[in-house]
Amino acid sequence: MSIAARAVAAHQLLQQRTESLPLSRYTSADIARAAARLAALLGIDLTYVRPDTNWNWINLPVLPLTLYASDPDDLGAQYTFSYRDPLYDDEAFFLMGPCPVCGASVPLAEVRTLADVGAFLTKGPEPLSQTQILPGSYPDEFDRYPTHTSKCPYREGDC
Ligand SMILES: [Zn+2]
Repeated sequence: MSIAARAVAAHQLLQQRTESLPLSRYTSADIARAAARLAALLGIDLTYVRPDTNWNWINLPVLPLTLYASDPDDLGAQYTFSYRDPLYDDEAFFLMGPCPVCGASVPLAEVRTLADVGAFLTKGPEPLSQTQILPGSYPDEFDRYPTHTSKCPYREGDC
C-alpha cells in the first residue's frame, strides 16, 4: 500500500477511534492519538491497542493513561503500557510489569522506540535487593509509581 493510502487510512481510523470512545471529543482525540503513536512504535495496527477509557484529567493529580497492546502475530500475548498524559505528544511510554519485590504493576522500562521494548525483553528486569538502590536500567518512574504495596522498599516516600 502506498504511503498516501496508508496515511489516509490512518487518519480515518483515528477519527473512527475518537468517535467510538465514550469520552468527551477532546479527551478522546488525545487518547486516540496516544494509542496511534504506540501502535506505530510497535508496528501494529491501531485496532490492536486498547486504551483504558476510565482515564480522565479531571481528578488531580492526573493519573497515567493505561494502554493495552495485543500482538496480532502472537495470539494471547499482551503488553501493558502507561503514558503520563495524552494531552502531550512527546512523552515516553512505559512498559508495565510486576515489581520484582512486591508484585504490583509498575513501570519497568521507558519506551521511546521498538528497540527499547526489545532491550527489556532480552535482558528482563534486573534483580532488586532490599537495599533500595535502584539499578540504572529501571526508569525514574519505577519508584514514583503509586501502586507499590505499602511494605515495598521501593515505594517512594517510605524511606
Ligand atoms: Zn514494589
